[in-house]
Amino acid sequence: MTSTSKITIKSLLQKVTAYNPQADLDMIQLAYDFAKDAHKGQYRKSGEPYIIHPLTAAHIIADMHIDYIIVIATLLHDVPEDTERTLEDIEKNFGKEIMRLVRGITKLGKLKYRGVERYLENLRKMFVAMAEDIRVMIIKFADRINNLTTLDALPPQKQYRIALESLEIYAPIANRLGMAEMKGQLEDLSFKYVYPKEYQRVKQLRDEKLAGKEKYLKGVHVQAEKELKDAHIDIISIDGRKKRLYSFYKKLQRKDNQVAKIYDLFAFRIIVKDVADCYASLGILHKVWKPVKGRIKDYISQPKPNGYQSLHTTVFDDHGEVMEFQIRTRQMQEEAEYGIAAHWHYDEYGSRIPKKQVRWAQELAEIQKEILNKLSDLEEIKVDFLQSRIFVFTPKRDVIDLPEGATPVDFAYHIHTDIGNKCKATLINDKIASLDTVLKNGDVVEILLDKNRKGPNPNWLDFVKTQTAKNHIRIHKKTKLTGWLKSVLPKKNTRDKK
Ligand code: MN
Repeated sequence: MTSTSKITIKSLLQKVTAYNPQADLDMIQLAYDFAKDAHKGQYRKSGEPYIIHPLTAAHIIADMHIDYIIVIATLLHDVPEDTERTLEDIEKNFGKEIMRLVRGITKLGKLKYRGVERYLENLRKMFVAMAEDIRVMIIKFADRINNLTTLDALPPQKQYRIALESLEIYAPIANRLGMAEMKGQLEDLSFKYVYPKEYQRVKQLRDEKLAGKEKYLKGVHVQAEKELKDAHIDIISIDGRKKRLYSFYKKLQRKDNQVAKIYDLFAFRIIVKDVADCYASLGILHKVWKPVKGRIKDYISQPKPNGYQSLHTTVFDDHGEVMEFQIRTRQMQEEAEYGIAAHWHYDEYGSRIPKKQVRWAQELAEIQKEILNKLSDLEEIKVDFLQSRIFVFTPKRDVIDLPEGATPVDFAYHIHTDIGNKCKATLINDKIASLDTVLKNGDVVEILLDKNRKGPNPNWLDFVKTQTAKNHIRIHKKTKLTGWLKSVLPKKNTRDKK
């Protein structure tokens, strides 16, 4: 993470007040106390008290200098789903706006993974949440970034699934929203788990290329700073940065694995006061370091489609190798790093930076198209695997996958033997239905129980599809039915077997 400070509520308050002096610190403290109390006695898989998770996620938000309202919602984001406290409690204590943000996150979190893949449904939920309030996604990204940093505590299967989802779904959305910083973190944290071998290879490659160059690059940094200062350029900051691993990996793939064709493995990012200084700086740097022909990119006069603005130039260093300079204004920097989140971003003087209009409907439509397109390919690949399965939901929106043709009784036994044995009726999508109804993809199934029921109806064997249901019904028959029924049993069984 960008910050090295300790993860405490005190350091969070300091962080927020530094960029947003008007922030309601009492309210942040209250949210922390509320969440801490609600999560009392809960621990993460890593053994830490649960509160560390929302607190760390809130730090990630604060590191991006984002509005304290979002910081508060982040502290509270797991309360309704995981604790006794409800959304009403949150509204009572923190008001409607924060309640709505937390509700958005809770809705996203409701869909749990229980079967094979369920990307489509998950995505639809995400788009709905995004359409309602994009700030929900900012919180979700911070939540996911923290979860990815603590993946080691989970079983490998789960690590892989969470990382893959982050890489294939969350990172592209962050990217489309222009949130380069979060996208980069999501990608690099997931990369390690999704493609572990490639991760190691690429990391080694990058380290080898940059090995022993730290001192030299430090020298370049100092010299660039001096040259610009001598020319009376107002420098806001200069940072040297290694290319992120996942984007290095992707670029290597595009360039047939030729590292020599990658020019921005190391780049200096220079932030200056205004556009005139951007161009002036470019000229000054070119006097010192020879530019590589055809590698000067003017994204200021011609921004990238996502609005990205900057000047880029590749130059030869003293070793005959290349490095990149990126030159831009602070506003360009903010928008490049935080994208849509820059709308809730505060500058160092504690004022909200004025932003261009958000073109919501259009943005959303484009993202949906992009990701759903990609998804239809994915679906095709998986079609064989998925063909014979359907996905239905519990009233709490857990996903259950069942074979095609399954009925509410199969569903009931899938959940629990007792629920199967005592089931008396069913609601499908809130409507009463008969127990032999064939379930369809997306149905929400609720089972009504008869507590006094002794056992399953043997006739259910005529329509159940799953082996689990069949076995339970048969066992029950065998144990319960004795005496004169014994003669009936074999006959019934042969018929049931078909
Ligand atoms: Mn969480």
